[in-house]
Amino acid sequence: MLVLVKTMSERVYIFDTTLRDGEQSPGCSMTVPEKLRMARKLVDLGVDILEAGFPIASEGDFEAVDAVSREFPEAQVAALARCCTLDVERAAKSLAHAQRPRIHTFIATSEIHLKYKLKKTEEQVLEEAVAAVELARRYVDDVEFSAEDGARTAPEYLDRISKAVVAAGARTVNIPDTVGYSVPHEYGALIGHVAKTLGDSAIVSVHCHDDLGLAVANSIVAVEAGARQVECTINGIGERAGNCSLEEIVMILKTRSDYYPCHTGIHTEHLFSASELLSSIITFGPQPNKAIVGLNAFAHEAGIHQDGYLKEKTTYEIIDPRTVGVPEGRLVLGKHSGRHALNQRAKDLGYDLSKQELDGLYYRFIAVADHRKKGLMDKEIESLIRAGEVAERVAAD
Ligand code: MN
Repeated sequence: MLVLVKTMSERVYIFDTTLRDGEQSPGCSMTVPEKLRMARKLVDLGVDILEAGFPIASEGDFEAVDAVSREFPEAQVAALARCCTLDVERAAKSLAHAQRPRIHTFIATSEIHLKYKLKKTEEQVLEEAVAAVELARRYVDDVEFSAEDGARTAPEYLDRISKAVVAAGARTVNIPDTVGYSVPHEYGALIGHVAKTLGDSAIVSVHCHDDLGLAVANSIVAVEAGARQVECTINGIGERAGNCSLEEIVMILKTRSDYYPCHTGIHTEHLFSASELLSSIITFGPQPNKAIVGLNAFAHEAGIHQDGYLKEKTTYEIIDPRTVGVPEGRLVLGKHSGRHALNQRAKDLGYDLSKQELDGLYYRFIAVADHRKKGLMDKEIESLIRAGEVAERVAAD
């Protein structure tokens, strides 16, 4: 007999590290007041865990974790610490005012890191990891352990250290692809293996870097394999090529809820403004063709696409831009746009044009758009419409 099993959609926790991994990359430094402004937006966005800094690394990082903890008591605030007493104690102190503090402690586990960087044996690293988790648990209930360079760590050792830190009190075990080396099926298999080993004893987390452009792909395949926390950043900022992009992983789960039985708690209508705020604070924004938040992400310029889009949006649009909070005026029209699209935009802007007026507008529009690499924004289109009204009045006089 065929039995239909109704699967419940499971929650995937979004761990934002814009203010820690993101902030420590070139061109992304933020002052404490800037981190607070960004933190407010991340709280509005509904991120589950907000990693605010690496307190032992600098006075600024310590102050940032402390300030975010005081300002946003409702937020789950995380502070990073290596697996050593000084780091863990400093992290605990920075979180003293947090109501939901998390200490996130890490140590490298791959053979290459043990041999060349730490010059320690697997046993030593395991002991230090367990000791750090036990110490952290004396200060907070919520401890996350990260096996740095986990993706290049032997699965047997990963099993051993994961079980040991969970027994010591860690609630979340993160297996990062620190160097962005993994490919999706391989990473998914590794995460599936760890998820099976840990079962319900801890949440498996992922933290992927984009060195091969696979951070989001690796993160989503990990969710399929059982990961229930994704570490990510706004605009995908972070060390080197960056981290998994928060807006992309969130919108994959939302847009393809038919495929993934998982959801996040993110209020997606704040995604675009979060991206814009970050761009205004750091030295660069997302590239124009960046998924979800790039300037062109919702621009339909080719005439054929615009025609189909105007008849029925879903012909060429998988996400309604309003879902991610893109203001209408951000949609550009370019030289490949037809009369149809132009007329629709004029209507949206409140102008009902006659055929003759539309023809006039179209020629003025093409004359400008032809010399542009970028399309025209609403303001410019409006001034072209007004220019037509003036021309008519002059002709009538
Ligand atoms: Mn990282």
